[in-house]
Amino acid sequence: MIYDKVDERIVSELRQIVGTEDVLIDGEALEPYTHDETVGLSAQPEVVVRARSTEAVSAVMRLAQRERVPVTPRGAGYGLSGGAVPMCGGIVLSLDRMNHILELDKDNLMLTVEPGVVTGDIHRAVEAEGLFYPPDPASLDSCTIGGNVAEGAGGPRAVKYGVTKDYVVGLEAVLPSGEVMHCGGKLVKNVTGYNMVQLLIGSEGTLAVVTQIVLRLLPLPKVQVDLLVPFDDFQAAADTVSDIVAHRIVPSTIEFMERDSIVAVEALLGKEVPHHDATAHLLIQVDGNRQEAVDADFEVVGELCLEHGARDVLVARDRPTRDRLWEARRMIIDALKHASPINHMEDVVVPRAQIPPLMRGVKALADKHEVRVICFGHAGDGNVHVNVLKDDVPDARWAALVPAFTEEIYALALSLGGTITGEHGIGATRRGHLTEALGEAQVAVMRGIKAAFDPNGILNPGKVFP
Ligand SMILES: Cc1cc2nc3c(=O)[nH]c(=O)nc-3n(C[C@H](O)[C@H](O)[C@H](O)COP(=O)(O)OP(=O)(O)OC[C@H]3O[C@@H](n4cnc5c(N)ncnc54)[C@H](O)[C@@H]3O)c2cc1C
Repeated sequence: MIYDKVDERIVSELRQIVGTEDVLIDGEALEPYTHDETVGLSAQPEVVVRARSTEAVSAVMRLAQRERVPVTPRGAGYGLSGGAVPMCGGIVLSLDRMNHILELDKDNLMLTVEPGVVTGDIHRAVEAEGLFYPPDPASLDSCTIGGNVAEGAGGPRAVKYGVTKDYVVGLEAVLPSGEVMHCGGKLVKNVTGYNMVQLLIGSEGTLAVVTQIVLRLLPLPKVQVDLLVPFDDFQAAADTVSDIVAHRIVPSTIEFMERDSIVAVEALLGKEVPHHDATAHLLIQVDGNRQEAVDADFEVVGELCLEHGARDVLVARDRPTRDRLWEARRMIIDALKHASPINHMEDVVVPRAQIPPLMRGVKALADKHEVRVICFGHAGDGNVHVNVLKDDVPDARWAALVPAFTEEIYALALSLGGTITGEHGIGATRRGHLTEALGEAQVAVMRGIKAAFDPNGILNPGKVFP
């Protein structure tokens, strides 16, 4: 596609739409919008526009459509696949000023929000009312719900509660033409036409700009207990996960952290994690409404862990102790960046029972490429974050190593019945591998969908498609 440049006339129209202070054009102000959290990826926007209403988003899209200028929607810029990076320049449309919780409907257990609300603020707002929004990406105190919808974000609680797509029942979205579309609503059931809500979830800002979101809520479980369980053998930890599920217990989370990820967190936080020399830790959360039922479940889980050779089972019942355990888990990505500022993260997902062969394959790849690889992730749902650390690998070898490693790990995940990304998305970084993961026919249908929404390709170009 050939796009037009943003000129003075367009900037002046944008100022009329959103006001002068919400149009950024000078270099320093634009810098934060050149990248997201993807290491080593950046591109320059020509202008940044901060929208504060659906009407403003619609007017910006009409203008961009008329002038054939690309638009990249942006939440908090916490993505890990370059989705918010303006690969073709043009307008970055920031939604972070649309950050209001519009309505908590306790009769219907629904919450209506603008896209720029930070996910953790949703948690706090509904939990204060005894309600529960389960999706919990580790970035929840920074990322926005609009970014979560666009990425189909997940989190540790996916094991029991599912991911963002399982809670979004209604969307207001602005099409690339500027038209406003309302899909779904405060409805538990709805089979009227194609399921446009689910089509937009995970569409990575390439089909429409989401301007309002209706979320389904649950009652807040009254009791939560966390167990931190160190193992000396990775296979034993993996077997424990299968055994817990075979005992018909579904914890709300089953996370795993390799020893080196714990060591990296300790170095960053300056705090010691118990049994930090263990090969792997499982972080298991059991929740429910009755203390006796939760106690019974966590006792079975604890016994199963010990039967499989766990060194210990550390139990955290109160909020401060539980928060300390989770702090270590949530800091891993930052800790790995601290350990090696240049690193490469993959996000493959396999059926839960295939984690041990996946881990064996990853270790073989690390040996083959003579590079440090540290894994952590969601043992309960098969999603493993594989981090390749540059350390002191020379630049030229690193430049060849990353694509080779990526190709091999994708082939491994696909051969195990998995796929190339479980929660971080295709974005700009994985688009070259979409066809390998989905096949020609599916990618062709997706291209048809994209063309139906965005015939001129102005919305988030350079993403998803090879
Ligand atoms: C430390 C760390 C931990 C993380 N942990 C997790 C995790 O546990 N689980 C997980 O799933 N992800 C995780 N992520 C990735 C990231 O936080 C998620 O992808 C998140 O959903 C991004 O939200 P954001 O607001 O930052 O979106 P951005 O990065 O700003 O944008 C992401 C994509 O969404 C599009 N977009 C944003 N807002 C809109 C909108 N209103 N309408 C249409 N498109 C829009 C953008 O164009 C882009 O394609 C983590 C990232 C970091 C840095």
